[in-house]
Amino acid sequence: MRILIQFPEGLKQKALEYAKSLEAKGDEVIISASPNFGACDLALDEARNLNVDKLIHYGHAEFNKVDFNVEYVPYEIDAPLDLLPKSLELLKDFKTIGLVTTVQHLHQLEAIKRFYESNGKTVLIGKPFGFAKHPGQILGCDIGSSSSVDSKVDAHVYFGGGIFHPLGAVLNTKKPFLAIEPFDNKVEFIDKLRETYQKRSKGKILSSLKASSFAIMVTTKNGQHNMRLAEILKKKIESDGLSAAIVVANTFDFDSLNNMMEFDAFVNTACPRIAIDDVDRLRKPLLSANELMQVLSMKKELTALQK
Ligand code: SF4
Repeated sequence: MRILIQFPEGLKQKALEYAKSLEAKGDEVIISASPNFGACDLALDEARNLNVDKLIHYGHAEFNKVDFNVEYVPYEIDAPLDLLPKSLELLKDFKTIGLVTTVQHLHQLEAIKRFYESNGKTVLIGKPFGFAKHPGQILGCDIGSSSSVDSKVDAHVYFGGGIFHPLGAVLNTKKPFLAIEPFDNKVEFIDKLRETYQKRSKGKILSSLKASSFAIMVTTKNGQHNMRLAEILKKKIESDGLSAAIVVANTFDFDSLNNMMEFDAFVNTACPRIAIDDVDRLRKPLLSANELMQVLSMKKELTALQK
């Protein structure tokens, strides 16, 4: 069988090893060297252009249904649990906690839950909205496992590497949020990020109030493509007497976007995290669809006041 194999950045170091093991079974293997951000970002164009029989995507669970033969191969990582006692001290004032992690540590969720329960806590594990597939799993764009239990818990606990995944959950919940990062040997409350990102969002909105031309960003990635939303936003902007155009890419290159100097602001319809995490990479404001609607409504109010 002719196979294209694809890895997220953190697993690309394993590409040769996997390729050789498939070749040993008689398969013809090609490795995708394109950047990869998740199962929302399957190398489908490469797979079709290369006329392969199958795409094997390592490291993520299925995101959305696609019209191609894709095999998902999860990658479990056993993280050390030795920060749990320290987390317990920090959680001493909270009886009921919501527990989440990433797909790489889902197999450890039950052991972590048992640890807290045997130390007197009630542990709730919420359900994702649908892009993530397992209770307790969060993605940067699916924080349902935290937000669905927010009203019932006293605090949230995230177990896993980095800030990317819990940031979305923090911004969409109200309760104290403890992050246990086993590989950085860190355990800390990260709720202060809510205020930081709220301020950044207000700053983007205010600096877009004079914008008259908007670039609406659409990606061709399978799980992030949203042309319908882009078309609705374009019509909305134009009906307010402003100018808008849809700009498309697979992976957005911020140097190229910065060259599009005619636009006063950019509106993201791709991975929702772009308008949160990549704001500083663009010289112009980079808005989410919600932020755009706030900009348009504030512009109208200002115009009415000036009459
Ligand atoms: S957060 Fe963005 S990159 Fe990650 S799975 Fe969701 S859409 Fe894909």
